[in-house]
Amino acid sequence: MLDCKTKQPWNDFLSFIKEKSSPTEYNNWISPIAVIEQSEEKVVLQVPNIFVQEYLLDNYKKELCIFLPLQKQGIPYIEFVIEQPLKKKMPEIKKERAPVFSSNKPVLNPLYTFENYIEGPSNQFVKSAAIGTATKPGKAYNPLFIHGGVGLGKTHLMHSIGHMAFEKNKNLKIKCITTEAFINDLVDSLRNKSVDKMKKYYRTLDILLVDDIQFLQNRLNFEEEFSNMFEALINQNKQIIITSDKPPSELKLSERIKARMEWGLVANVGIPDLETRVAIIQHKSEQKGCPISHQIAFYIAEHIYNNVRQLEGAINRLCAYARIMQVEITEEMVESILKQMFQISSEKKVSIQDILKSVSTLFEVRVGDITGPSRQKEIAKARQISMYLAKELLDESLMKIAAAFGKKTHSTLLHAWNKIALELKNNDTLKRQIDMVQKNIES
Ligand code: ADP
Ligand code: MG
Repeated sequence: MLDCKTKQPWNDFLSFIKEKSSPTEYNNWISPIAVIEQSEEKVVLQVPNIFVQEYLLDNYKKELCIFLPLQKQGIPYIEFVIEQPLKKKMPEIKKERAPVFSSNKPVLNPLYTFENYIEGPSNQFVKSAAIGTATKPGKAYNPLFIHGGVGLGKTHLMHSIGHMAFEKNKNLKIKCITTEAFINDLVDSLRNKSVDKMKKYYRTLDILLVDDIQFLQNRLNFEEEFSNMFEALINQNKQIIITSDKPPSELKLSERIKARMEWGLVANVGIPDLETRVAIIQHKSEQKGCPISHQIAFYIAEHIYNNVRQLEGAINRLCAYARIMQVEITEEMVESILKQMFQISSEKKVSIQDILKSVSTLFEVRVGDITGPSRQKEIAKARQISMYLAKELLDESLMKIAAAFGKKTHSTLLHAWNKIALELKNNDTLKRQIDMVQKNIES
C-alpha cells in the first residue's frame, strides 16, 4: 500500500486513514471530501467548505506527505475546490433572498461550540456575554464587540453564538462573515450592479456575525457601506456580533461607527492562564482521539503561553507523530517537536514589532510604554530587554533600532544591551524570561 507510484494516492490515503481515525471523525471530516482528479502528479479535491480543508491539512499533514504526490518543497500537491452550494444551478427563483445556501443553516465551524470552549479567568466574562447574546439575540447586548489578541478564541466564540442561537431557533437567519468576505461581496455586487440586492439581503438577517473588523480600517468606501448596514440592522433590533484585534476606541474608523460599536457590550478575551491552557490541551487532544497526560499537557502549556492556536499546532504535530510512529507521547518527543516549531518561527524574519509585542505580553506593559519616555522600573526593564533582543535578533543598524524606540539615541541602546548582557551572566530568572520572549516571538 505504501507504494509512492500508485495512481490512486487519495484512495490509498483514505484506506489508511479509515483504520486510524474514529468513525465520528471520519464521517464528519473525511467523508465529505470528494476526489475530482488523482494521479501521480497531483490530487484535486472538492471540499464542502474551508474548514474541512484546514482540518485535513492540519491533522493529516504527515499522512498526506506519505501518500500523496509531493511538490518540490516537499508539500503534498493538492488543489482544493470549494463545493458550490447549489447557487449556480438555481437561477433567480426567489427574488427577495439572495440564494446563498439551500437551507437556513449558517456556515460555521462545527467544532467551534461553547461546549468546546474551555473557560478560565481570562475568558469567563466574554463567554457569559456570548452565551447571553446567543440566548436572547437582539435583546441582551447589541452589538456584542469581542476583542483580543491573535489565536485567543474570538472566532471560536463567535461561531459558538451562531450555533447556539440556531439550535434554539431554526428560523433565525444567521450569517457569519469575515470582514474581507464582506468587502469582496460588496466589490462583486458593485461589479454586477447588484448592490441593492446585496443590501436587501443583509437587511433580512436576524443575526450578523462579522469577524475581524480591523480589516475595515483604511477602506473608506466600504466603511460607509458597512455603517449603513450596521445601523439598519441595529435599528431593527437585529443582533450584531463583531470581533476585532483591538477595542473600538483603538480602531482607525470614523468616530461615529466606533461610538456605535461601543453602544452594546465590549468584552475582552485575554491570554489563558496556565491551568486553562492545560485544560485546553487536554480537551483538544482528547477530541483528536489522542489524549495527552496531565503532566505532558502541563509541560507544553508552560512553554507556549500566549496563543491557543500555537498550542493546537503543537498538539497536532504530537498526535500526528504518535499516530504514524505508533508510539506513546513522551516528554522528549514534546521537547523535540517544540524545538522544531520554534526553529521554524525563528527562521522567519523577526521584526521590531514582534519583539515589542512579545516583551509587552510577558512583562504586562503596553508597547506604547516600552517605546515611550516612562522611567517606571518595570517599563524601563521591559525596554532594556526589548533593546537587547532587537540588537541580538535584528539585522538592522543601531540607529534604526534606536529610532524604533521613540527618540532614543543609539548610545542608550548600547547601554541597555551591555547592561542586560552583563546581568544575563548570573541571573537565571532573566535568562528564562528572555528565553520565553524569544520563543514566543511570533511571525
Ligand atoms: P482568534 O479568532 O481570536 O484569532 P480562534 O477563535 O481562531 O482565535 O482560535 C484559535 C484556536 O484556538 C481555535 O482552534 C480555537 O478552537 C482554539 N481556542 C482558543 N481559545 C480556546 C478556549 N478557551 N478553549 C478551547 N479552544 C480554544
Ligand atoms: Mg479569528
